Amino acid sequence: MSAAKYIFVTGGVTSSLGKGIISASLGMLLQARGFKVTIQKFDPYINIDPGTLNPYEHGECYVTNDGAETDLDLGHYERFLNVPTSQANNITTGRIYNNVITKERQGEYLGKTVQVIPHITDEIKRNIYLLGESGEYDFIITEIGGSVGDIESLPFIEAVRQVKWDLGANNAMVIHLTLIPYLKAAKELKTKPTQHSVKELLSYGVQPDILVCRTEMHLPQDIRKKLALFCNVHLNSVIEAIDADTIYDVPILMRKEKLDERVLAKLKLQSKAEPDLEHWKDFLGKLKNPTEEVTIGLVGKYVTLPDAYKSIVEAFVHAGSQNDCRVNLKWISSEEINPETVSTLFKGLDGILVAPGFGERGMEGKIEAIRYIRENKIPFFGICLGMQCAVIEFARHVVGLEDASSTELNPKTKHPVIDLMEAQKKITAKGGTMRLGAYTCKLKKGSKAAQAYGEATIQERHRHRYEFNNAYLDRIEEAGLKAVGINPESNLVEVVELKDHPWFIGVQYHPELRSTVMNPHPLFVGFVEASVKYKKSLTA
Ligand code: GLN
Repeated sequence: MSAAKYIFVTGGVTSSLGKGIISASLGMLLQARGFKVTIQKFDPYINIDPGTLNPYEHGECYVTNDGAETDLDLGHYERFLNVPTSQANNITTGRIYNNVITKERQGEYLGKTVQVIPHITDEIKRNIYLLGESGEYDFIITEIGGSVGDIESLPFIEAVRQVKWDLGANNAMVIHLTLIPYLKAAKELKTKPTQHSVKELLSYGVQPDILVCRTEMHLPQDIRKKLALFCNVHLNSVIEAIDADTIYDVPILMRKEKLDERVLAKLKLQSKAEPDLEHWKDFLGKLKNPTEEVTIGLVGKYVTLPDAYKSIVEAFVHAGSQNDCRVNLKWISSEEINPETVSTLFKGLDGILVAPGFGERGMEGKIEAIRYIRENKIPFFGICLGMQCAVIEFARHVVGLEDASSTELNPKTKHPVIDLMEAQKKITAKGGTMRLGAYTCKLKKGSKAAQAYGEATIQERHRHRYEFNNAYLDRIEEAGLKAVGINPESNLVEVVELKDHPWFIGVQYHPELRSTVMNPHPLFVGFVEASVKYKKSLTA
């Protein structure tokens, strides 16, 4: 194929309809037909990136290999497509304006009044075309954040209109995701909100080519006809997106509705008759027919909003399927954990993950949790702050450094076993300044981690400011907590493992960000396996 084709996904009626999942599902179906696909998201807020947002506001911050802090939808793109994303895949209004204002100061628009149209829209288009011009992809799917009608997404919709005009109907198209509410009292599906949101889109000069309709009930033919008639789309371009048991069903449902075929027809493309979905169906089959079941505790500070740990939750789905095991997650607020509550809170758990996090709130609870886990030999997985807490707990209760802490928790501690990284000490600005993105780690032969990965050199993604303080390495290792993964350039401790424990691994990096349907993460797979074994050992 000579040039990339562009597919835009807009949303109408309400937010949270799952544009990310629909985009990822379509991308996966096109990929399964042999095309190369990437997915990009535009977010209409003014922050340069979501790195400075509270997870309660925006869910997890997803980190790419190149160290971009991005929207959690990029996690779905990677989990579905198994292709890494980068900074170019997530652009905010803030970044667009920042670029334009920087260019203005450099004199790039000398003599001109810099305006939303054409300067902001040109910058948006430049970011759309950038991915296509790389020559790496047949399809660029661009998800427009927010809903049609929001003031702040207007420049993006205008850019979509211009791209359609610039490239023509064979090269660019719009899929509008909308809601068809069901009124129980009237026993009726309602099309009016969709009619209005399409009308709104039309008022900006954009005619959607396909409607994807989120619904709780199957769409009868008369409703489909009504939607087609009022929204100027072909009847076969009204696609039903019925509520699914799992997000991983959505590609299969979209295939049944022939979304991929409609896209190919609109863009005048030929492809083999059927996408190859064998692996995906295999994964689903195992997911839905587990022979084992475990309950894993997830100790964190943001437990009231599971989206804050999205990638961890999904990594357990992948690892569960791989182990033919249903993984139930029990959310436990770290602030509730203390020596009195811990045994009750952890009753019936087959493994416990201590989650990443920032700030001192809840940290003592995480440390207490790990003491209980270590002493009772329950399978343990500590991620980032979870690993740091494991080091603190071990230093306090096994090495005997009573006051041991992280300088994040107690800046005055006598024993800063976790300390701010040297490179972080001069940094004051908060945005994009952590240690971010993929770094190499060498694993020690014979370690459980090396065994799980099946290789000695790995690349994993990071997002932190604090690190294992190597001044304490010898004392901690001698007492039995081994540093089995090290960054070869900086000597930073990346993985710790406890001797004489069935499965106790802490990692400074974020393995959850690399788990996909195609490649479940080996540490999650190993942890679930260890939890199954632990459960069996209790009943044996
Ligand atoms: N707050 C810790 C640090 O900055 C851990 C970060 C994390 O868990 N992502 O090092």
